[in-house]
Amino acid sequence: MKVETQVDLTSSLTFHVPAFASHYVEVEKDDDIREALRYAQNNNLEILILGGGSNMLFHNDFEGLVIKMNSKGVDVSSDDGRRLEVVVEAGEDWHEFVLKSLANGWGGLENLALIPGCVGASPMQNIGAYGVELKDVFSWLEAIEIKTGQLKRFNLKECKLGYRESVFKSELKGEWIIVRVAYNLDRESPLRTSYGAIEDEISEINKIDLTHLDVAKAVIKIRNSKLPNPDVIGNAGSFFKNPIVKKEDFNKLKAVYPEIPNYPIDGEVVKLAAGWLIDTSGWRGHDRGTHGVHEHQALVLVNNGGATGKELWALAEDIMQSVKEKYNIQLEPEVNQISIGKS
Ligand SMILES: Cc1cc2nc3c(=O)[nH]c(=O)nc-3n(C[C@H](O)[C@H](O)[C@H](O)COP(=O)(O)OP(=O)(O)OC[C@H]3O[C@@H](n4cnc5c(N)ncnc54)[C@H](O)[C@@H]3O)c2cc1C
Repeated sequence: MKVETQVDLTSSLTFHVPAFASHYVEVEKDDDIREALRYAQNNNLEILILGGGSNMLFHNDFEGLVIKMNSKGVDVSSDDGRRLEVVVEAGEDWHEFVLKSLANGWGGLENLALIPGCVGASPMQNIGAYGVELKDVFSWLEAIEIKTGQLKRFNLKECKLGYRESVFKSELKGEWIIVRVAYNLDRESPLRTSYGAIEDEISEINKIDLTHLDVAKAVIKIRNSKLPNPDVIGNAGSFFKNPIVKKEDFNKLKAVYPEIPNYPIDGEVVKLAAGWLIDTSGWRGHDRGTHGVHEHQALVLVNNGGATGKELWALAEDIMQSVKEKYNIQLEPEVNQISIGKS
């Protein structure tokens, strides 16, 4: 295990903001992680886990040990000819795993194609897109406890996967390192095409027997046309979560803004579109030179080049305040804020 010091993380972060790690190590095996944890303990260092760096905004350099997950491996643990359980190491690239599963004829992940990042982070916020969430295919995960180095298996219930949430982002925040995730896949799983633009895209494919791969291709095409490519323009996807509000608060808003997009979750709460709230507060295309709000996607903050994490956060705060003033709704960031308030 080789711990490096003063490592520039900029190119490892899809926001491309300047950020150094005072200590940095890449790990491939569970025992590498345990060794890294001992190193951090002996040197009194805080720990930060890094996957693909696509859901983080660094406000400052990180004084501590960054552990970069580089473990690889995809194993079928059970297979009845139709359904199978696939166990994947945390450092595998998510989209490559999706493509690999589709090439093998395994269905279930096609709507989650092209989400950046690593497998280990997929349960962190229960990644979701185009009507599917990770929890729909999740079987279990194994994680190492930072305090003790012990390995524990968590089932679906224990992970508390919710909308862009998990137990690892709330009660157990900063306590566990996810080392592998098991997914339930199905060669004959139904195609989920009713969401958003998938239906339109699919109708253009002149084919009777659609496959999981066809759905993935449609999703990839839609995503490429809608979202800025982080290799070209720094961003971390949706910066804010869609707010979930009480039905009575929603009814008050609807009386003033009848056109407000809404997605009832149950009889008591309604999910609103953060993008619409930000757009109608006048922020889409907002330009601060080095950074701003994407011209087509009000939910996406962009680093045009040269912006710092603090500058992007100042913009996020202005947006949150403006939406609060107009709609009395407090937006919450979806992106993880790192080294916030430190200098
Ligand atoms: C263009 C773009 C589009 C996106 N679209 C979507 C989308 O459609 N749906 C969606 O849900 N998300 C989306 N995202 C957000 C992001 O891709 C996902 O949240 C992804 O799962 C993050 O993976 P990562 O490996 O990059 O995580 P990182 O950014 O490296 O880490 C995210 C958080 O998880 C922690 N973490 C990472 N790995 C581990 C681990 N193994 N154990 C414990 N903690 C860990 C980190 O410390 C950090 O707090 C998008 C991002 C971009 C840039």
